[in-house]
Amino acid sequence: MNIQIDNNGYYGEFGGAFIPEMLHPNIEELRTRYLEIINEPSFILDFKLLLKDYVGRPSPLYFAKRLSEAYNTNIYLKREDLNHTGSHKINNTVGQILLAEKLGKKRIIAETGAGQHGVATATVCALKNMECVIYMGEEDVKRQAPNVARIKMLGAKVIPVNSGNKTLKDATNEALRDWIFNPVDTHYIIGSVVGPHPYPDLVTQFQSVISEEIKIQLTEKTGKSDPDYVLACVGGGSNAAGAFYHFLNNDKIKLIAAEAAGKGIETGEHAASISCGSVGVLHASKSLLLQTSDGQIIEPYSISAGLDYPGVGPLHSWLHTIKRAKYMSITDNEALNAAFTLTRLEGIIPALESAHALALLDKLKFKPDEVVVINLSGRGDKDLETYLKYCEMKSSVPK
Ligand SMILES: *Cc1c(COP(=O)(O)O)cnc(C)c1O
Repeated sequence: MNIQIDNNGYYGEFGGAFIPEMLHPNIEELRTRYLEIINEPSFILDFKLLLKDYVGRPSPLYFAKRLSEAYNTNIYLKREDLNHTGSHKINNTVGQILLAEKLGKKRIIAETGAGQHGVATATVCALKNMECVIYMGEEDVKRQAPNVARIKMLGAKVIPVNSGNKTLKDATNEALRDWIFNPVDTHYIIGSVVGPHPYPDLVTQFQSVISEEIKIQLTEKTGKSDPDYVLACVGGGSNAAGAFYHFLNNDKIKLIAAEAAGKGIETGEHAASISCGSVGVLHASKSLLLQTSDGQIIEPYSISAGLDYPGVGPLHSWLHTIKRAKYMSITDNEALNAAFTLTRLEGIIPALESAHALALLDKLKFKPDEVVVINLSGRGDKDLETYLKYCEMKSSVPK
């Protein structure tokens, strides 16, 4: 099975670079140079050192004893929530800022929805003294005030976008537009395994440190490098791509991803681009996406801002098509319940995104001797308001 990207940036029929002519020089520079740069020994050294001392890697692989007892199996949590800035996103922004430096860029732009990628980007720009501009939908600027404050504190400029639905998709369009007009000095740090080739592969490479570490850590803990299951949530798909990457070639390992089913697939209010999507082009890449029969993007919905995206990375559309990974949908309520279960059993408050992966535990059947790794993509501090609202709602319902 060949799961690598081909020379034109395709995983099977998905991927590519559907870009306007004016973006061609930027993408071409990146495409022709990224592999050579990220494989240089000096780049690898710099990247590994920052991951270790700045991000705090390796992130622990934690045996969740009480959670394991509850599901009568062996559950390990890959603790991306313990990374600097609170999620896996920093793995990618650290890699891309080093790449931008090597390309001689002076200015960084990025899009953000929930603000997590914006924070991770503003963080590495402060670290490397680069000018930083973050595009964010006006709606998200309002919804994600604490992250907007962090981005500003870090010295970056937030540009609210008021086109379309004023959310992530519109912010991405605006960032692409900026890049067209600033081709020479600017690097665009895309936050997930989406966008034109080579981004899906580039971001997958940077996030693949997650599964690289899992293999080593599982060997230390269990004597075997391979689990029976790897579970992760999917927005654009970067944490799942990183958690799956080094296991893709072993068919015995079940790779299962959770998409946001929002208020329920049947309500139409969801972000399940694989279960409910069709093939189309969004943000310069061919993949599965939520669209009407005449190709208009359908606004996605999820309680979790990080999963609220109408598309998904081409790697995932391909893994779904060839049935190498399985994509299941998890509703808002299922995710909320799973978040409380983890919090009360293990004392870990997960990000709402990660709670979608945790909710898969209720949908699958495990054997007592099996090993299940869940990628805990982020911490839940940013979601406390949502959790508290739900908590009050639950306690006001008579038992
Ligand atoms: C952004 C985010 C996600 C979703 O993005 P992917 O690219 O699908 O990983 C998931 N979890 C957390 C904590 C996030 O911040």
